[in-house]
Amino acid sequence: METIGIPRALAYYAYYPFWKTVMATLGRELVESGATTKAILDEGISEACTDLCVPIKIFFGHVAELKGRVDKIFVPRLVNVSQGDTFCPKFLGLPDMVRYGMKDLPPLFAPRVDLRKKVRGWVNLARMVADAFDSSIISVLQGLEKGKRVQAAYENLLLQGFTPKEAMEILETGQKGKVSDPGKEQVGTIALLGYPYSLYDDFLNGNLLSRLRALGVKVLTPEMVPEKVLYTKIRSLPKGLFWHFSNRVLGAGLYYLREVQIDGIVHVSNFACGPDAMVNKLLELEAKKHSCPFLTIGLDEHTGQAGIHTRLEAFVDMVRWRRQRACE
Ligand code: SF4
Repeated sequence: METIGIPRALAYYAYYPFWKTVMATLGRELVESGATTKAILDEGISEACTDLCVPIKIFFGHVAELKGRVDKIFVPRLVNVSQGDTFCPKFLGLPDMVRYGMKDLPPLFAPRVDLRKKVRGWVNLARMVADAFDSSIISVLQGLEKGKRVQAAYENLLLQGFTPKEAMEILETGQKGKVSDPGKEQVGTIALLGYPYSLYDDFLNGNLLSRLRALGVKVLTPEMVPEKVLYTKIRSLPKGLFWHFSNRVLGAGLYYLREVQIDGIVHVSNFACGPDAMVNKLLELEAKKHSCPFLTIGLDEHTGQAGIHTRLEAFVDMVRWRRQRACE
């Protein structure tokens, strides 16, 4: 069976179940790279341009890890998936950066995903997939429909509070899981905001989510807010942002600050990310308006776990102290 490698980075955390289903319908096996490690990060750093953000460097590392293991590597050109905003320029140029920046790769499967014009967008995508795999467009359209159903089930699990890893396991095994311990709320509720590839790559962020839960914090993420709600908040601004994942993070922040009783915000930001510079400032200003404690954790290839944990613990201590003081 032809194998298609999918790097466990960037949009993997958002759309893996969709593409796995589509590939299975077409008789192809989607093979994931392993979880991020120091070796993968180092490989990505040596393969990618110096001034790229760390999530892109990690993507390069995962592509390198798949080299020699699969027949093709999946590097989509994500343009638009729903709400009129586009993906950041690095996503738009991803197949070109990989193709011209790395040597000895197997062929890339690099469909352009642009669903602004809904029906035409899906038909165009079906054509590209059909051409790449020498399949009939009807069977691809059926695969895409099946993929959409699985994707809806996946997103529903994320809304319930499952992490992408837990949700994928539930879909895989068909076993009903329990939402992992959301923290006992002894300390408070914190909105952990960031792109999915920053929040759910445990190596990159030093296991932030589990760490916060272990400190007794209830953690809320952008994936726990319905898309419609996120974008209603974005539309309440004089102007939204151009970029898809950035709008999701900002919309979640606005929602949690305005409609949910939270005790703090931790924004996980990436060094050398242009969109993040704006998201971070807008979140910080909004948090200030609501007198909500705000912490930025910046990630780059040199970020050490110890540094992240120390800052996180200090922030959680401050949240605890504020709550105690409010009760006095
Ligand atoms: S949004 Fe930022 S972190 Fe994400 S790929 Fe673009 S530049 Fe990198």
